[in-house]
Amino acid sequence: MSDYEPQTRAVRTQAAASRHAEHSVPIYLTSSFTFEDAEEMRATFADEIQRNVYSRFTNPNVAELAEKLCLLEGAEAGHAVASGMSAVFATFAGLLSSGDHIVSCRSVFGSTHTVLTKILRRFGIGHTYVDADDPDSWEAAITGATRMIYLETPTNPALDIIDLEWAGELAARHDLILVVDNCFATPVLQRPLEYGAHLSVHSATKFIDGQGRVVGGAVVGRKDLIDDIFAFCRSTGPALSPFNAWVLSKSLETLALRMERHSENAMALAQALEGVAGVAAVRYPFLDTHPQVDVARRQMSGGGGLLTFKVEGGVEQGRRFLDAVRMSSRTANLGDTRTIVTHPASTTHAKLSEEERQAVGITPGLIRISVGLEDIADIVRDVTRALAASR
Ligand SMILES: *Cc1c(COP(=O)(O)O)cnc(C)c1O
Repeated sequence: MSDYEPQTRAVRTQAAASRHAEHSVPIYLTSSFTFEDAEEMRATFADEIQRNVYSRFTNPNVAELAEKLCLLEGAEAGHAVASGMSAVFATFAGLLSSGDHIVSCRSVFGSTHTVLTKILRRFGIGHTYVDADDPDSWEAAITGATRMIYLETPTNPALDIIDLEWAGELAARHDLILVVDNCFATPVLQRPLEYGAHLSVHSATKFIDGQGRVVGGAVVGRKDLIDDIFAFCRSTGPALSPFNAWVLSKSLETLALRMERHSENAMALAQALEGVAGVAAVRYPFLDTHPQVDVARRQMSGGGGLLTFKVEGGVEQGRRFLDAVRMSSRTANLGDTRTIVTHPASTTHAKLSEEERQAVGITPGLIRISVGLEDIADIVRDVTRALAASR
């Protein structure tokens, strides 16, 4: 297998077939694994043999998913877990100790914000937020206690782009672990490890599943770091169900195709929305009007499936738009085959103060669209018709 290209290996990598020689990999829905004899069991528990023992530790389907992700992302090691948030939390908890400090981009996923501000704080792990559009401030935020730089690019929901090559150099200069939440781009469009990131974190729930079925997560990157994260997970238990791992692993086989079409459709919708009455500030990483379009085009091979725009008229106008769509789904997910519309100011980010929302680019009329795989003509019609109907 090793002489094939990464995409081929990601499609063809499978856990071992059973004696039935099935073509699709079986689901190893078992909580534990049996031993030939007392000696094999002793040697396993003494770490003399590596094998499956118990599915909280390892499972063939979970290992297959992690291996495929590693191939796509160019990572030497990886571990798949129960959700994107368990991947984020295990990355912090597996690598940091009380007294350590994280420099994090301010615009992070809502639950990551809660982990940083409310949970890690109780364990004596501090953080300083820095802004994606003010890279000069990042170096000043690094203290003697800083161990990690954490960022998302593109950010959610502002779609800011952070220059990964620059961030990689900053981390190397200060000997810090650089962690990138690569959920929006997926390994198909962006491989942070190639730019000096040490770990890439994923919510597999989003584009990796791609069809809105199961929750899962993963972290891939440098082996010594993954070993520590795995050790944390093994004992604390955010284990991914073998069934979910099987679904997600199958999905990886079509990820490249799907991301290509998500990107194509999102670009077409972004272009169609520019200049539409009542719409301002259409934002998409590959649009010429995006402030970091050059960086996006350098480090991403496609713009991804997410775009945002502002409806004129604020919160009420945003809610009216959401009510006016006929085809698109109103749901708190993204990265689905079906187009999804959300209004962050009245939903996912409603608990933040107006000031906090402004700081992460969430204006009252901001609409986020996760562009799906329907015919682009229907997607454009649904959004433009809803815009006209809600004015
Ligand atoms: C959804 C999401 C997460 C969390 O993933 P879950 O699978 O929901 O736990 C983390 N980061 C980003 C950018 C996300 O969109």
